[in-house]
Amino acid sequence: SSVIKDIKGRLDGKVAIITGAGSGIGFESAVLFAREGADIIAADVNLKSAEAVVERIKEKFPLKSFNRRAVAYKVDVSKEEEVKKLVEFTLKEFGKLNIMFNNAGIMHPHDDNCLNTDEKVWDLTMNINLKGVWYGCKYAIEAMRKNNNPKGGSIINTASFVGLMGAATPQIAYTASKGAVIALSRELAVTHARECIRVNSLCPGPLHTPLLMDFLNTDEKKNRRLVHLPMGRFGEPIEQAQAALFLASDESSYVTGTEFKVDGGLTAAY
Ligand code: NAD
Repeated sequence: SSVIKDIKGRLDGKVAIITGAGSGIGFESAVLFAREGADIIAADVNLKSAEAVVERIKEKFPLKSFNRRAVAYKVDVSKEEEVKKLVEFTLKEFGKLNIMFNNAGIMHPHDDNCLNTDEKVWDLTMNINLKGVWYGCKYAIEAMRKNNNPKGGSIINTASFVGLMGAATPQIAYTASKGAVIALSRELAVTHARECIRVNSLCPGPLHTPLLMDFLNTDEKKNRRLVHLPMGRFGEPIEQAQAALFLASDESSYVTGTEFKVDGGLTAAY
């Protein structure tokens, strides 16, 4: 109906790439961003899971009546050529890129402390969590430079609270990668501010997702973490998606270079 067509979403008319869209934070963000009016390129190394999020979007929202689109795209963010092609595909199919959510990340499920981690784990973690974010930023910035009305764009890079403080259950490669994502995001924010390209890192606290629950696989391990959480519970992926939505939207037009903490008070606690 004409009433539905008139509803304005918070991302109306924007084009958004979300990496790691097949699960957890990426999944919830893809659905939420679509609800708010964005065209979605749901990118994941696991194509089936990216297709599942697109199905969910199509089920929930009558995209056709809004004249909007959601597509699944297979990408390994640690491969530069694949990220380049993802952005090229987006420009060819959608004509522009307004939002780049570099969210794909892994945490090695085994003990990965400084003394016993090995080079394979270190390199794999860095290649996906850090290099992948670099590639995503590089090609997004090139694309966003060409944007007009509005100029620029918003880049959100998923880091973690462990990029800001030490965790008692150390995952050294993961922690180092996330600290670097924060530093990279901060510098890009400063470098590209005059081009209206905003860059923020999202710093989730510990969440109810396969990534963390596979790691904290006993009640004892879970409880050790919960003691340090002022809210006394793990966060939900949708709570990260809601923060990412704010950073993606024009409501955050004066927000750049932040470490946006969505952590149930964790980093404020003594
Ligand atoms: P998740 O495991 O549920 O989802 C991650 C998605 O990324 C998966 O769909 C996976 O297929 C995809 N992926 C993995 N490697 C990829 C690659 N090379 N290229 C493209 N896609 C790839 O995890 P999540 O909890 O939703 O994590 C999302 C982000 O949030 C990650 O960067 C993670 O480090 C970060 N984070 C998670 C937590 C937590 O507690 N779960 C806390 C802080 C930060």
